[in-house]
Parts: sequence; C-alpha cells; structure tokens
Amino acid sequence: MAPMRLDVISLAPEAFAPLQGLGVIGRAFGAGIAELHSHNPRDFALDRYRKVDDEPYGGGAGMVLKPEPIYAAFEAIPVLERRRVLLMSPQGQVLRQADLQRWATDYNQIVFLCGHYEGFDERIRSLADEEVSIGDFVLTGGELPAMVIINGVVRLLKGTVGAAASLEEESHSSLLLEHPHYTRPANFRGQAVPEVLRSGDHGAIARWRSEQQQERTRERRPDLYARWLDKDSQPVLERQSQT
Ligand code: SAM
Repeated sequence: MAPMRLDVISLAPEAFAPLQGLGVIGRAFGAGIAELHSHNPRDFALDRYRKVDDEPYGGGAGMVLKPEPIYAAFEAIPVLERRRVLLMSPQGQVLRQADLQRWATDYNQIVFLCGHYEGFDERIRSLADEEVSIGDFVLTGGELPAMVIINGVVRLLKGTVGAAASLEEESHSSLLLEHPHYTRPANFRGQAVPEVLRSGDHGAIARWRSEQQQERTRERRPDLYARWLDKDSQPVLERQSQT
C-alpha cells in the first residue's frame, strides 16, 4: 500500500524530527507506512530578509503571518488524489478520535498549516478544508497540535500497531472509556488484582470489563456517558440495579 503522505508547513520544521524516533510511530515512518515532508514558508519569502510576518492592519499586539510565503509553500506541494488540508487553530473544531479515524481512512495526504505569533492572515484560512484545535487552550505554535494529529493518525494506519483489536477496544473508539488493566504481580504492595481476572472465566471477565467501562465513564466523563445512554445502549449497571 502507498504510504500516507504528511506535509507540514511550519516555521519550525525541525520540531517534527523527534517523531521519526517515537516508538511505533517512528517505526511506521521507517517501514514506509507514512512519510513526512516539511516546508518552511521562510524559504518562499519574497524579500531579501525572508520576512514571513507583519504588523496587523488596524494596530494591536503581535505579528501576523503573511499570506504570500504560506501560499507559495502550499502551492509547491504535490497534490495527491485524496488530500485533506488542516489548519491548526485554537478557534477550530476540537479534535476527537472520530476525526483521526476519518482522516486515516479517507485520505492519503494530509497537509498541516502551523501558525505562529498572533496567527494567520485571515486569507490563509481559505486554503484549509478544516480548522482543528487540540483543546481549549492556546500554545505558541501549531507544531505540537500537528504532531498530536500525526501521532493519532499514523497509529491507526494498517501495520503501525500489531493487533487491530487493541485499537478497537480503546477509550474513545466508542463512547465508553476503556476498562482497567492489570499485569503481574497478582499482589503489589497490598493491592490485589481483581479475582475475576484470574478466574479464567471469559464470560465473567467480559462482563466485569463492560461494567468497569460504564462505571469509569459515568464517574470521569458524564458527558460521554450521557451520549452513550442516548444511543439506546444497554447499561449493564442500571440493568443490574433494577434486578
Ligand atoms: N491569536 C490566536 C487566537 O487567539 O486564536 C492564537 C494564536 S497562537 C498564539 C499561534 C498558533 O498556534 C495558532 O495560529 C495555531 O496554529 C497554534 N495553536 C495554538 N493553540 C492551539 C490549539 N489549541 N490547537 C491548535 N492549534 C493551536
């Protein structure tokens, strides 16, 4: 299968180098599952000072990224048939697992526009298919948000993670959070592994895990739990309390 092509437009392309050495993600790049290309708008700046930012019209604090170098960097990137352009912005739609799944499945090229300073000249926004925020907080640049997305997308690509089941059972792959995990020793500093997990009774283990998922989600993320209930799901916990 052809690799997923990832293009980052960034004033700090060196920030992406550690991805190549990042465990399973690094190995996915090494194995040709994904490939990363970086493009520095400074290399496309027209003036001799390689200026990429300027003062905001109307005054105010901070500098704004100029459109010309970013458009030039963008237009120099080869276009594959299934391309998605994502602009990193705290004003974008907040990232969800379903977005990562969609991008990993539907596209073979993702272009990331990483902002800096006060952000982009408004006209740069029209290059993007989607504006994405990684949360309701503000960072200094779009590199970490882009790396978050790259990590999340690449781990979903076929061949990156060994067992497909480990992806399916995880938190946020459905609306419920994942159940707790234990490994040896059976007793650690007075904390014992729940007996059911050592029982060998696969039905009982599955029921325990399902209950734990619901209980955790209800306690930690009542918003997700309410959405899960809305989807006509069958809450084991409530069924049990009724009987
Ligand atoms: N002045 C902008 C605003 O209020 O919306 C914030 C600019 S921020 C200092 C600089 C750049 O960092 C943004 O253009 C964006 O690319 C990136 N960035 C910061 N926080 C982000 C977040 N939560 N999600 C995605 N990108 C973010």
